[in-house]
Amino acid sequence: MKEIILLKYGEIALKGLNKNSFENIMIKNIKYRLKKVGKFKCSKAQSTIYIEPETENIDLEDAVEALKKIFGIASICRVCVCEKNFDDICEKSIEYLQDVLPYKRTFKVTAKRADKAFPMKSPEICNQLGGLLLEKFPNLTVDVKNPEVTITVEVRDTNAYVHAENIKGAGGLPVGSSGNALLLLSGGIDSPVAGYMMAKRGIHISAIHYVSPPYTSERARLKVEQLCDKMTDYCGNIAFFCVPFTEIQEAIKNNCPEEYFTIIMRRLMMEIAQRIAKKDDCLALITGESVGQVASQTLSAISCTDAVCRIPVFRPLIGMDKTEIVEISRKIDTFDISTLPYEDCCTVFTPKHPKIRPSLEEVEKAQESFDFEPFIEKAVEETEMKIFYI
Ligand code: ATP
Ligand code: MG
Repeated sequence: MKEIILLKYGEIALKGLNKNSFENIMIKNIKYRLKKVGKFKCSKAQSTIYIEPETENIDLEDAVEALKKIFGIASICRVCVCEKNFDDICEKSIEYLQDVLPYKRTFKVTAKRADKAFPMKSPEICNQLGGLLLEKFPNLTVDVKNPEVTITVEVRDTNAYVHAENIKGAGGLPVGSSGNALLLLSGGIDSPVAGYMMAKRGIHISAIHYVSPPYTSERARLKVEQLCDKMTDYCGNIAFFCVPFTEIQEAIKNNCPEEYFTIIMRRLMMEIAQRIAKKDDCLALITGESVGQVASQTLSAISCTDAVCRIPVFRPLIGMDKTEIVEISRKIDTFDISTLPYEDCCTVFTPKHPKIRPSLEEVEKAQESFDFEPFIEKAVEETEMKIFYI
């Protein structure tokens, strides 16, 4: 008995003329991701991707686990491959469903006929196969409204396929189908979630992180690298830029009024980020900001930060509560890393009384007495890059 995996699309199915290019990016992502699991043949037909193991010793469960993290896939089905005749469908179904049906009480059968030339219509397939399964598995009764398990028969162009469960995929659009953006990645809970959310919309992300040794430790930097590594599960390979930020922070401390430290620091972070973004072909920045969370995330503080940005800044968490953000960070497995104790450059030289509602005029004035340009150039120059692979 041969078992393969069928993948169904969500949004891509609605893409009309562009569908092909989305499908091709997704297949490329799938092939790359499955390399670690084993040798597979991937092909597409009728808005479905077929994943067939090419060697004997492959555990399809490992493949399913990897596929669950690939954006663009709406659902994943492990299916039994049958010949396109009803006798074979029945025979294989009984054998294939041995692992599932003895443990259920209620079921129903649904059928989809992509091949309209198949001699039986869908209701007939459901009735006859349903009857046979009732006979073979006396523990079962039919419940069409709320069955414990739904058995699906799909009659497609070359074969018929039978499966029990439908596993939910990651949804969204394939990473790489919406261009590149640069994520400001701290060691906190929010920014990895922000990166995940934009990757779900098909954006391929790079990450930038600011360090201020000796005020921030090597351990803190390693923690962010660990987060970046974890994020590759969903986001694919990530180029990670590490910016030396100590001299800039000291310059702010020595030359600007204390209540504006944070806001000026954030403006300089954005300035550096957009220069790195340009070099790395990123068209936008991404942050983990959420309105009102801290003093630098009030509307007026965000407007002062935005005033230096020449490219769009995406803030996918802007309207979310911390509990909602935490829920996602647990799902994507970044929470435990994010909550390790660490010090962030943002917590170095924090003013005792930061300006909560700074006006742009005040901030520009507080910043103008000092020429940061040579420091910005130096920080960009000395930025180190490394790539994290899936
Ligand atoms: P997070 O949980 O993501 O750290 P936060 O709630 O702690 O966010 P802030 O410290 O104000 O909020 O940071 C807001 C955003 O600025 C972060 O989500 C992140 O995008 C960016 N950021 C903060 N610190 C750094 C850093 N050291 N390197 C890169 N980006 C940073
Ligand atoms: Mg933080």
